[in-house]
Amino acid sequence: MRLAELLKAKMSFSFEVFPPKTDAGVETLRQALKHYYAFKPDFISCTYGAGGSNAGRNVEVCSIIKQDGMTEVMTHYTCIGHTKETIAQELRQYLSLGIENILALRGDLPAGWDGTHGDFSNADGLIRYIKAVFPQFCIAAACYPEKHILAPSFSADIAHLRGKQEAGAEFLVSQLCHDVEACKCFVYRIREAGITIPIVIGIMPVLDKDAIIRMTLSNGCSIPADLAAIIGRYGDRPEEFKKAGIEYTINQIYRYIEAGIGGVHIYTLNKWEDVETILVGSGIRKDI
Ligand code: FAD
Repeated sequence: MRLAELLKAKMSFSFEVFPPKTDAGVETLRQALKHYYAFKPDFISCTYGAGGSNAGRNVEVCSIIKQDGMTEVMTHYTCIGHTKETIAQELRQYLSLGIENILALRGDLPAGWDGTHGDFSNADGLIRYIKAVFPQFCIAAACYPEKHILAPSFSADIAHLRGKQEAGAEFLVSQLCHDVEACKCFVYRIREAGITIPIVIGIMPVLDKDAIIRMTLSNGCSIPADLAAIIGRYGDRPEEFKKAGIEYTINQIYRYIEAGIGGVHIYTLNKWEDVETILVGSGIRKDI
């Protein structure tokens, strides 16, 4: 099913997983997926290593989700470093497996990369290409409620985002944004700018102090006062930090749902036990 159709009808609820590197990791993920399915998600997305690193495992994971038949699947796909020929070959493979939803991204070149940037410098070019050559795909694009770290200004970033809608993106999936008020402002601004497609908000669970600081700052996102207070109070006590972080994440989910967003997309970090605690706490699905 094309996810854009689903998003027209309801607020979605979904998970993001990443492809493990080893066979044992894939087996662990298979078991975790069973726990995610129990929450009846509308879809599960799987990340793709920019430049094609671990691309085989991405296809394997997408294919497992598709074959399990418990939910829809969306693959992430990055164009950086790829030629049109490679892209066409990989997209044909997804279609042959019945995968018809794609989050079309630029990606960041991996450290030490010595090849070219490939045939597309930005995601809008990739989106336009997919729309023209592989119209079977429902295309999603990334958005950044606190601005992409490299964008020279908010207005420039929003103009580029509008370019992705014009190129053929049918919905947006956001970067993590702990600051719900900043995100509401962003949604207001992009609607004013003529971006009308639904926005699914990415929620990063707060579980580990160092990891949350690293992921937040490396993506150019802010740490609001209430999260800073948790870091200050429980930073040296990992168990208590996780407990407070889970509560914080549950509260964020409530606030985002209240704000009337298009969907909630949980970055699982492949940690199903903690994700389960968060979902049970937030009452997202009562019928489990
Ligand atoms: P773009 O839309 O191309 O934007 C990148 C920058 O260029 C922005 O500053 C933008 O303002 C600017 N820009 C855009 N269009 C133009 C233009 N036409 N001309 C000039 N400048 C322009 N990375 C992975 O490697 N694998 C993943 O699976 C993955 N999944 C992600 C999922 C989500 C929900 C998000 C938010 C990000 C994900 N990323 C992933 C990270 C992403 O690849 C990086 O953030 C990357 O730097 C930008 O990708 P993009 O598609 O947003 O790029």
